[in-house]
Amino acid sequence: MIPVTLDWLIFIYLGVMLALVFGTWIVSEYRHQRRERLAFRDVLRCGICALQFEDKTGALLPRCPQCGSLNERFPLSRL
Ligand SMILES: [Zn+2]
Repeated sequence: MIPVTLDWLIFIYLGVMLALVFGTWIVSEYRHQRRERLAFRDVLRCGICALQFEDKTGALLPRCPQCGSLNERFPLSRL
């Protein structure tokens, strides 16, 4: 048996709990960002008229439904 003092036991317990909380936070933040990325994957903003529209065709240069200009697929900037 490994002799462990009460101080070390409390220290180990706090370290494990902090690691669990930190790990849960990292995983939930990663999942949140992934969900957000997937939700806005097909949303585009027209460079001419600034209309935001959804294009699920996967075309390289989707056409704006309002002004008809061709747009590149840039990710929308975050607020
Ligand atoms: Zn447009």
